[in-house]
Amino acid sequence: MDTAKREPKVKGNQILDISRYIKKTYGPDAFERAIAAIKKECKYSIPQNIRGSSWVPEKLHMDLLETIEKMFGIGDYDVCFNAGKLSGGVGFKSIYNIFIEVFDIIFLLKHAPIIYRTIHSHGSINIVLDKSKKNLYRIRVSHVPFPTKGYCAYLRGYLHGLIRRHISLKNPLVEEEKCFLDGKPFCEFKCSWED
Ligand SMILES: [Zn+2]
Repeated sequence: MDTAKREPKVKGNQILDISRYIKKTYGPDAFERAIAAIKKECKYSIPQNIRGSSWVPEKLHMDLLETIEKMFGIGDYDVCFNAGKLSGGVGFKSIYNIFIEVFDIIFLLKHAPIIYRTIHSHGSINIVLDKSKKNLYRIRVSHVPFPTKGYCAYLRGYLHGLIRRHISLKNPLVEEEKCFLDGKPFCEFKCSWED
């Protein structure tokens, strides 16, 4: 059995989006400093040149989020939230770009499970519908391989950015109502916006 294949992976575009946010906010060398801090302890290889379409270790994604919070944050995980917001808002360089531009947010959210699996090799997303409200969805994220607070904040930001990207959707609000770090079987995010 090839263990390298079973190692949880994420698409490089997630790392590049974080890099973009960190450089823009904390200076051109900030991303390199964060990677150098991770390299000291990590037991996986970090690719020299990360490309958006290539797979990189999911552990790198998780470690990077925790590291940037430690280096640039004040412990409230706002750095991770804002990195996620940028990624969901302007990132997402894939075939699904066309979905974002052409279809509405409901279509997009309904297809989130498929989209998620184009970015992550492990984990899954379920959408919980509330038939009485058109502007409220709950998104459950399960089986994340290395759950961390930074990743939860990043996901919350990602969903916020994605909803806000649809300019007709005013004031998105994304709250994490349940979290596997509190012993729940999944993280559940309540996503709402003004009609
Ligand atoms: Zn969580």
